[in-house]
Amino acid sequence: MPQQPTINLIDRFGRKVDYLRISITDRCDFRCLYCMAEDMTFLPREQVLSLEEIYRIAKAFTGLGVRKIRVTGGEPLVRRGALQLLTNIASLDGLDELVLTTNGSQLEEMAAPLKSAGVKRITISLDTLDANKFKALTRTGDLAKVLRGIQAACEAGFERIKINAVILKGRNHEEVINLVQFAINHGIDISFIEEMPLGQVNQHDRSSAYYASDRIKADLAAQFTLIASTEKTGGPSVYYKIPGASTRIGFISPHSANFCASCNRVRLTAEGRLLLCLGNEHSVDLKAVVRQHPEDDAILRQTIIDAMRIKPEKHEFNIHEQPVILRHMNVTGG
Ligand code: SAM
Ligand code: SF4
Repeated sequence: MPQQPTINLIDRFGRKVDYLRISITDRCDFRCLYCMAEDMTFLPREQVLSLEEIYRIAKAFTGLGVRKIRVTGGEPLVRRGALQLLTNIASLDGLDELVLTTNGSQLEEMAAPLKSAGVKRITISLDTLDANKFKALTRTGDLAKVLRGIQAACEAGFERIKINAVILKGRNHEEVINLVQFAINHGIDISFIEEMPLGQVNQHDRSSAYYASDRIKADLAAQFTLIASTEKTGGPSVYYKIPGASTRIGFISPHSANFCASCNRVRLTAEGRLLLCLGNEHSVDLKAVVRQHPEDDAILRQTIIDAMRIKPEKHEFNIHEQPVILRHMNVTGG
């Protein structure tokens, strides 16, 4: 068994960073209301990291002790060559887990190849089981196709599958019981996410759509008994269990239960910025480093180590104010 590299990435607050999220594209076939504005301008191709550059950066991170990588986007599966990139990342020395977040639109065809590529766990976004609401929330999505994708993922044999649901008051808050029942029926996990104020969106007011995790828990209590669990999956979800079901119910609560003290992650944006915190703009331009030093990984590694010094203590989200963070979630990588 290869020896695990020690974790070299430690910030000013003593937090060890062993988890990297990579947005491999800012493009997407959906236009979810909370993630994007209706009219989006995407990055010109030359500003986006190439697949080779992404692999090189991922390798530098695993060499520095990163054990978990999540590939995300935009919609990662719309990027040509995504499968080969995932295969290459999965075989990096020192990596324990390669996981993926997807909107599910391509999963019907890609679930089995993704499992063969070495993806261990998969997170699929699903905010509603009502086809009309799904269309309204995603603007372009087809619920039936995503449900066939989830079925294909269930059959492909991933270690675990999780649904991510962003809950907005008046849009889908009445569906939390149905969504949990769907997760139980499929033997999969589910996490509910409080919307974060990233980028300008139109068509809904984030402040009035805010639906706190505690309200979801109260709604679920009408149907289920929730028992607090100490299980962790390396991310910000706090989990609950339901007696007799394998399903874990997670809550990602950036507003009502700040999780920054245990933050173990950084993000690589589609344009190659190493983002030290989702809710701040502190970042380092790794694209410039890989392009200026195509042969020298020592400089890349040192830049990543030095970047830990500017990781902020916590995010400064305020759902009731205009967003101070102008980048949308698709660029950032959720
Ligand atoms: N396209 C893929 C998907 O939708 O799963 C991966 C990228 S998406 C940006 C990753 C996750 O971020 C999704 O679960 C999505 O629901 C969530 N997300 C997007 N915008 C968000 C926001 N403003 N606040 C909270 N979560 C958001
Ligand atoms: Fe696309 Fe995912 Fe953003 Fe929806 S949440 S628009 S599927 S990147």
